[in-house]
Amino acid sequence: MTTKCPTCGEEYERIAQHYAFNEDHRPDLSEDQLDTVRFLLLDGATVETEGAHHSITHYSTDVEFLKAAAARLDDLVTSLRLEATAAEQAEHLAAKYPDMDVTAEQCADLYALRTMPHPRLDAYEDGNDVTELTPNVVTWFIEFHGAYHGSAILPSLHLDTRDTGVSGDHLRRLFHDYGIQTGRLAEGDGETFFVPSVREGVVSLPKKGIDQLREVFDIDINPAEDQRNHVVA
Ligand SMILES: [Zn+2]
Repeated sequence: MTTKCPTCGEEYERIAQHYAFNEDHRPDLSEDQLDTVRFLLLDGATVETEGAHHSITHYSTDVEFLKAAAARLDDLVTSLRLEATAAEQAEHLAAKYPDMDVTAEQCADLYALRTMPHPRLDAYEDGNDVTELTPNVVTWFIEFHGAYHGSAILPSLHLDTRDTGVSGDHLRRLFHDYGIQTGRLAEGDGETFFVPSVREGVVSLPKKGIDQLREVFDIDINPAEDQRNHVVA
């Protein structure tokens, strides 16, 4: 399969190599591509830093998620393929943890989505290098890593970064850059008061922060209707 260079119109087996030798033929990334890159980095994508430009690999057992990401990344994608079967995963885990009894049924097929090297990716080594939040990125992060707690009247949104590519501290600072309050409300001595997030990997937004998110990013988030609510009654 060949890919057509949008600048010179020639077809290439390995378009990444053509771009590597013809920097000015390489199309810049669209906002949609950049949003997807930002989200994948926050989600835990691996950045390959060898070579002239950085590229991204994202591993997941959720192939539908990777397909959706690949569609948005469009011509930045070089491959989306099965990296290891469930049986191979089980074998790998069994070798790593001899005391554990791992079966293929407990594992899932692992897929890898890879991008071509691109100069716009050079700014990144991991999710902590993401400095811009957009409505898409915020919406997706909530969808994948968010949960609501509290009551419908006084909800809070918890974003769990512990299994992602970004630290709670970085995400907290990013929100602050956009004027969005993080922290939580606590009860004590018959009073309700505000305390900053204490659990390192979990960024919590009080009702005020949720309202600010809605306003700043013009996104439709509704704790009372969200199916992923934990506690909201
Ligand atoms: Zn060209």
